[in-house]
Amino acid sequence: MIAILKHGTTPDQTSHLVEWLKTMNLDVHISQGQEVTILGLIGDTSRVDMELLNSLEIVETVKRVSEPFKQANRKFHPKDSVIEAGGSKIGGGYFGLIAGPCSVESEEQIIQVAQAVKEAGANFLRGGAFKPRTSPYAFQGMGGEGIKLLLKAKEATGLPIVTELMNINTLDLFNDVDVIQVGARNMQNFDLLKELGKTKKPILLKRGLANTLQELLMSAEYIMSEGNENVILCERGIRTFETYTRNTLDLSAVPVLHELSHLPVVIDPSHATGKSRLVASMAYASAACGADGLMIEVHNDPEHALCDGAQSLTPSQFAEVSRKVQQLREVMV
Ligand code: PEP
Ligand code: MN
Repeated sequence: MIAILKHGTTPDQTSHLVEWLKTMNLDVHISQGQEVTILGLIGDTSRVDMELLNSLEIVETVKRVSEPFKQANRKFHPKDSVIEAGGSKIGGGYFGLIAGPCSVESEEQIIQVAQAVKEAGANFLRGGAFKPRTSPYAFQGMGGEGIKLLLKAKEATGLPIVTELMNINTLDLFNDVDVIQVGARNMQNFDLLKELGKTKKPILLKRGLANTLQELLMSAEYIMSEGNENVILCERGIRTFETYTRNTLDLSAVPVLHELSHLPVVIDPSHATGKSRLVASMAYASAACGADGLMIEVHNDPEHALCDGAQSLTPSQFAEVSRKVQQLREVMV
């Protein structure tokens, strides 16, 4: 981190500031120019309050030269992380194809969909039991009962399961869940992230509706700094001025996150577009730009789905997407 001091700062004021910075376990390199003084802060600057430093009377500007995230940072972990869950892997060349309904609705539904997506090549089953719905009057999910049905589908197919946790008080219900999803709306629920960091469970962390990639990585850092390194990042579209699609898929998140971090990056083209007819092309684009996986909503009867039917593929549509994604990945290597 570099702090540029204002013209006219006295040596006394400079040394006062330097002493204060040293109390934060930083070494300070002072470069005294004719016009300005530049302080180079050396050490772990992740705990320095940049805004506070910037607000001081004698400080002109403050710049970070290293990222504030450490554990998620590729600089300190050059090799891609491979996250393993229930016998399937994501990252470092392993592709995670996560498919299933938005919500678990019944035993018959989840088992049918699980068998169909497995047949089509999926290696994870998704299904929401606790649903974060915009309206309190909309279907809120089956809760603990939904998790039990997911476990039955896992038993029937062998597919590891991915499902969202909204409240840490329900963590006990997730003992046999393979990957815990943190939804977009909870990406910055820091208490939740810290608690999940104390578990060893793989976490699928979805990008918030209006969050930057750096904020996504800082949220991953919350989980990792508590000791859980099993984090999978998920881009699921962000809010922009465009209203034709449900969200705007930021595909550049894939190369950017790969550049900055060693964590696997999965794309969710279903929530990104909100329209089933747009899902396939965005899935192909995701495979082409190097995503480590896809999360796709699939329903056996989209027209009657209790949640997100409009963006859900039928099993046969999904089978075609899966086949073409596989072909694309072969071309890409
Ligand atoms: C979901 O995956 O079912 C979901 C609610 O997604 P998001 O948090 O991205 O909206
Ligand atoms: Mn959904």
